[in-house]
Amino acid sequence: MKNIVLFGAPGVGKGTHAGILAEKYDLLHLSTGDLLRGEVAQGTPLGLRVKASMERGDLVGDDVVIALVDKALASTEQGIILDGFPRTVQQAQALDFLLRNHRRKLSCVISIDASRDELVRRIHERAVISGRTDDADDNVIRHRLEEYDAKTKPVTDYYKVSGLLVSIDGSGEINQTSMRLCKVVDMLLSGNV
Ligand code: ADP
Repeated sequence: MKNIVLFGAPGVGKGTHAGILAEKYDLLHLSTGDLLRGEVAQGTPLGLRVKASMERGDLVGDDVVIALVDKALASTEQGIILDGFPRTVQQAQALDFLLRNHRRKLSCVISIDASRDELVRRIHERAVISGRTDDADDNVIRHRLEEYDAKTKPVTDYYKVSGLLVSIDGSGEINQTSMRLCKVVDMLLSGNV
């Protein structure tokens, strides 16, 4: 059973590619952003708690997302592809603990890389169809990228140490990036990563 983390900055295409990989390799696509937006849309107590942070482009509290991932892991026996989690070193440590508790092992962390200009361009493009308020405001976009640099990027060092990190170029078209990602997952399935 494969448990894959898809890692990268806001706008790099984690959601798109996690969806494609989930379908192709029969994995459960677990997006903390989608789970949180679901809670906000339903107006649950958790949704009310995180709404303002998300609108500002702040990360929400580690405890909140860790609990969401724990719940999702408890509800499936399928292999998973995580999108948007972990986003802090503390979340990465919690993921190790959660996977062990659910008798799983992290297979690989695939980082999708693209330039800052390209990320901003893609977020603007996505805003038109996503209807996400955090995609439509330049200050919020800037703040999300700052949060990424300050809190999320250090997660790569965490995984470099464990030898689980693979980086791929995500600057091109969707199908180019998709081919690169599939190559990594195919190698993983054949035991060569
Ligand atoms: P993007 O990758 O474009 O920023 P996401 O859908 O992954 O979009 O996340 C949207 C927002 O949800 C984030 O800006 C943050 O407020 C919140 N969020 C999602 N995942 C996490 C997480 N793992 N930790 C903290 N906040 C999160």
